[in-house]
Amino acid sequence: MIEVKNLVKDYGGHMAVDHLNFTVEDGQIYGFLGPNGAGKSTTMNIITGYLGATEGEVWIDGHNILDEPEKAKKNIGYLPEVPPLYIEMTVDEYLNFAAELKKIPAGTRREATAEAKKLAGLNGVEKRLIRNLSKGYRQRVGLAQAVLGMPDVIILDEPTVGLDPKQIIEIRDVIRSLGKNHTVILSSHILSEVSAVCDHILIISHGRLIASDTPENLEKKMTGEKMLELLVRGSAEAVGEVLDLAVPEREYHLEAEEDGCVRVSLEMAEDVRESLFFAFADQRLPILAMNLQRASLEEVFLELTGEQGKEEERNEGDL
Ligand code: ADP
Ligand code: MG
Repeated sequence: MIEVKNLVKDYGGHMAVDHLNFTVEDGQIYGFLGPNGAGKSTTMNIITGYLGATEGEVWIDGHNILDEPEKAKKNIGYLPEVPPLYIEMTVDEYLNFAAELKKIPAGTRREATAEAKKLAGLNGVEKRLIRNLSKGYRQRVGLAQAVLGMPDVIILDEPTVGLDPKQIIEIRDVIRSLGKNHTVILSSHILSEVSAVCDHILIISHGRLIASDTPENLEKKMTGEKMLELLVRGSAEAVGEVLDLAVPEREYHLEAEEDGCVRVSLEMAEDVRESLFFAFADQRLPILAMNLQRASLEEVFLELTGEQGKEEERNEGDL
């Protein structure tokens, strides 16, 4: 289990991480989601002991990352945003070197690197120089380094950035299979990326946690704003009159189409579909289509982080 308590990172007046609190339970895949600059990499660097915090604590399986860094780090495999690869080494040389750094006993090193290579899909390129590998394969080498020794917790910072769609699907499959036996935290600025593989999503923006839930619950909770769309044959005037009588309190928007139809959209607090059906039928204005729209998780994410994103753009413009 990972516990992040009141974490703060202040880069000389700029709060990259702003009093962050969350707990990561064992055996699940967590998505750390937020726009660029939200503080994901900074947080991950602190959790993995690569960067000191200004304030707050990180506990890994009961070990404080500051007081017992060796014990805490032993349980973590990390793929940083820019993996520290030695490009003049072959894949095997690099992984052996990484195994040494991780203090994997010499007797089990071969077995451990073989396991990591298999998981990351590196078989066949062991003898190649890393400098000659494609971006996708280099990312796999970084991933193999992260899973080497099979630590309980695997932390991946934007593992799919720069990969092509086929490579993204492959890495995603690897992450899913890792999730069966490990706790995985992966960061991304793309919602579909995390909702596809994660059991739990933490959304951060400007260093603050703004949501933490399962993808399903997030969708349910945040998409209360339903819109009802209708396509009615009739004039905008006639349609408006029916709406004013049938749902007098409701705001609506009308758009006349060229074929003598009107497109209506109105907010749905409670279900008014049946009463609208009869109201339009009474006026002999046929409803040709009726469609209930829920905001997508993508829209929710943009809404939650969008305002702050705009703020960031403005600030940059000011400089
Ligand atoms: P993310 O990974 O979510 O894109 P980062 O953690 O990299 O976000 O960055 C969070 C914020 O901290 C950004 O505004 C970034 O510019 C700033 N930042 C990151 N590293 C440093 C640093 N070494 N010095 C000063 N500011 C930094
Ligand atoms: Mg980052």
